[in-house]
Amino acid sequence: MPKSAATPTFTPLAPAEARKAVRWFQRQMGITDWRIKLLIADEPPPRFVKNADLQTIAMCSHSLEYKTGTVWVSNSRCKADGSCPMEKLFHEMMHLVAEDTGIQDHASFHKEFVWHRLGAVLATAYCAEQPNA
Ligand SMILES: [Zn+2]
Repeated sequence: MPKSAATPTFTPLAPAEARKAVRWFQRQMGITDWRIKLLIADEPPPRFVKNADLQTIAMCSHSLEYKTGTVWVSNSRCKADGSCPMEKLFHEMMHLVAEDTGIQDHASFHKEFVWHRLGAVLATAYCAEQPNA
C-alpha cells in the first residue's frame, strides 16, 4: 500500500537521499538557483539551538539575498513524534519557496498548516517516483 499523506510513517532519512530529494524539490518548485545546506542530525546544530526546543524536529534558515538556505531534520525526534522525516524536510523547503516568492511567512498558523500539507503531498509524490519505493 502506498504511503498516504494523511498517515505519515517513520523512515529514517539518509543524508544522500535527503540531498537527492532536495534537488528534486528544487526542480519541481523552480528554485534550482538556491544553494541548500542539509543537516541530518539528531540534535539541532549550533545555529538553531537558540530557537529549537525539545519538541522541535526540523528547522530552516534562509537568505533571499544570497539565495541560500540551511535545513535541519532530526531523524530521532521524527521517530519519537511519529513523523515522516521526508515530509518535514519538504515542509522546511516550503519556507524557502515562500521566501523566494515573497510570501510573508512569519508566525502564521495557517501558512504552517499549508506548508505541512504541501510537504506531505510532495513527499508522497517524490517517494512514488522513486524506483524502489
Ligand atoms: Zn514550518
